[in-house]
Amino acid sequence: MRFLTLQRLMSVLIVGSTALDSIKTPKAENPRLLGGSASYAAVAASFFGPVKLVGVVGDDFPKRYLDLYRRHRIDLEGLQILPGKTFHWSGEYEQNMNNRRTLLTELGVFENFTPTLPKAHQTEPFVLLGNIAPSLHHHVLDQMRRPRFVVADTMDLWINATLQDLLRLLKRLDAFVLNDSEASLLTKEDNLCVALKKIHKLGPKYVAIKKGSHGSILSGPEGIFLCPAYPLRKVVDPTGAGDSFVGAMIGYLAAAKGPVSNNIRRSMIYGSVVASFCCEGFGLNRTTRVARAQIEQRVKELEQLTRF
Ligand code: AMP
Repeated sequence: MRFLTLQRLMSVLIVGSTALDSIKTPKAENPRLLGGSASYAAVAASFFGPVKLVGVVGDDFPKRYLDLYRRHRIDLEGLQILPGKTFHWSGEYEQNMNNRRTLLTELGVFENFTPTLPKAHQTEPFVLLGNIAPSLHHHVLDQMRRPRFVVADTMDLWINATLQDLLRLLKRLDAFVLNDSEASLLTKEDNLCVALKKIHKLGPKYVAIKKGSHGSILSGPEGIFLCPAYPLRKVVDPTGAGDSFVGAMIGYLAAAKGPVSNNIRRSMIYGSVVASFCCEGFGLNRTTRVARAQIEQRVKELEQLTRF
């Protein structure tokens, strides 16, 4: 059984935002949920092995959220707790849930965040640079000793506001994950096959473009892989689905035996499945209640749905 090949249990280092999210959908409103790119990614990765989280929160950060990280065996030595307010983000979805607008971004202690890595974190082989400013990603990589596999995620803000930092970062990555609109923004190219080629030229060996409920495309030395999204009848809140996708990917890669090239396609399937659970509840509410066996069940279903 595939399950048994997951036994290396290397930990992954995940850096990104750790936030309080206030989310509005046409059906409900939920204030101050646990959010942030690193929170979603860390919980997703924790299904596969140990995770070290690097981020910053204020002294208003609820203890129950620290307990939640701990329940997922997430190492918090790299999480700074500083006097002041936790990063607070608020977003509102339209009826079709594909369109979201940001209502508010209060940086709080995040404004002066400098990710300083404890010694034990500097030698981690698998690194996820979750969505934060690329200058902070550089700062993390400057402290690392020869990581084996580095993947980064981004958002339109960094492509628009800090393009030079991002372009320098792309040369330091093994894999880059972004969504379709970000890929078009970065490359000025609507055809994703052409966009993938253009992004490879900027540095990363693997490029994955996410297309929300339409799945994702991977491009790498072994060619193209079309990864399906798990078909959901009901989406409650898609916030953090992208972060969950890339978190599960890196978690799976760190745990799987053999070279990354043998495992990266399957890692995206796990990414799709964990992201699907994320969409079924507000914030991390659904993901944190999922059992590993349920993940395996959806992976099997995706296999059946795409076999021909
Ligand atoms: P996603 O739905 O995958 O785009 O991720 C949403 C998460 O990104 C939320 O939990 C937010 O807290 C976080 N987020 C929103 N804006 C930013 C930002 N400027 N920097 C870092 N994280 C952000």
